[in-house]
Amino acid sequence: MDKIFIMNLGTTSFKFKFYAFSGACSEVLASGELESVGADSSRCEISYPDGRVIAGEAAIADHGAAFSHCFSILQRDGIIRDLSDVTAVGYKAVHGGNLSGTCLVDDALIREMERVTPLAPAHNPIYLSAMKDIRKRYPQLLQVARFETSFHGTIPEKRVTYGVPYQWKEELGIRRYGFHGSSHQYIAQTVAKLQPGARRIISCHLGGSSSICAVLDGKSVATTMGATVQSGLFNNNRVGDFEPFCLKPIMEHYGYTLDETLAILSKKSGLLGLSGVSNDLRLVLEAADAGNRQAKLAFDTFCDNILGYIGMYAAYLNGLDALVFTGGIGTNSDILRQKVCENLGYLGLELDPVKNARRDDGIVSTDASKVTVWRLKTDEESVVAGCVREFLKQ
Ligand code: ADP
Repeated sequence: MDKIFIMNLGTTSFKFKFYAFSGACSEVLASGELESVGADSSRCEISYPDGRVIAGEAAIADHGAAFSHCFSILQRDGIIRDLSDVTAVGYKAVHGGNLSGTCLVDDALIREMERVTPLAPAHNPIYLSAMKDIRKRYPQLLQVARFETSFHGTIPEKRVTYGVPYQWKEELGIRRYGFHGSSHQYIAQTVAKLQPGARRIISCHLGGSSSICAVLDGKSVATTMGATVQSGLFNNNRVGDFEPFCLKPIMEHYGYTLDETLAILSKKSGLLGLSGVSNDLRLVLEAADAGNRQAKLAFDTFCDNILGYIGMYAAYLNGLDALVFTGGIGTNSDILRQKVCENLGYLGLELDPVKNARRDDGIVSTDASKVTVWRLKTDEESVVAGCVREFLKQ
């Protein structure tokens, strides 16, 4: 039996799922989350399949310490015997540059992730620090990374190429990579089971960060994020597509440095910057309902962004069989689904207002709709765990 510990790291958050694989079957033995990593006190919650939930507070300095903390709780609760009981740890790693797919965490991988850190400054350092720290604490533990760019390795070259001098692509790797690969892969695999005839799928992952992916015959053929996670749709607090020639006038007018300007574009833009209210769509919608014009504009612009990419991707796919909404916004906001879909009648798509109000996974379009619209919860960790398992088998 393989037991694999999957980690999903955010700047101050640590999420994990611990899987046991037996033959083709897998089960989650425990899952958990730590918030406020690096603060004086972190809140930790671990859940077991029997419904038990262990919650507590502890001082957790960094992500390596978070792993040790969770490991010791699982050991105390009899889920893990000792280190030899863990076949491997797996990371939902972000940017691997020239590395894609599922890879052993070794010196070469660390060097490549360091090289492309300027393209993923908010994410790669956290993963690198955890990988190095866990290697130091547990040198015998096998570490494997699945990159978020991996699912997009099938996008045609013409669609990952920017209109910049060719040598920038060759020498610096300035091209589209795409992210949220585990989520879009999960959606592609799930729709393949639920709607076997669907060859042309658009997966909309809308949440804390958002991206859209076009899938043809199970393979990614287009996605909105680019060389970094900053482009494509605008996000809760990130800019999305933006005109680089605006940088100079912004910096000159406000006296910002380049770093200060980029920090605003990556942390204080998107829904937050536009609405001036919040990075949480729920609060933006509340403000819009109360008559806040900026909040309404932020929501309308976000929906219009999504609609535009769906239209572009329906053209790439030469039609559409399934449209999927996932992520915290995609699954929970029926208002957003309605707003986006009301302009897709030309594809023969018809949303069912009653089904669209559902709070569980399933179809939200009418029986007559030519495009099946789904509300599906994603499960990125299960994809990473499956990929790590395949890697171990090989
Ligand atoms: P992450 O990308 O961090 O994993 P999620 O996919 O869980 O995040 O999405 C979190 C986001 O979902 C929140 O920031 C919030 O804006 C949004 N959200 C959650 N519930 C709703 C809702 N009912 N309506 C609109 N947005 C929602």
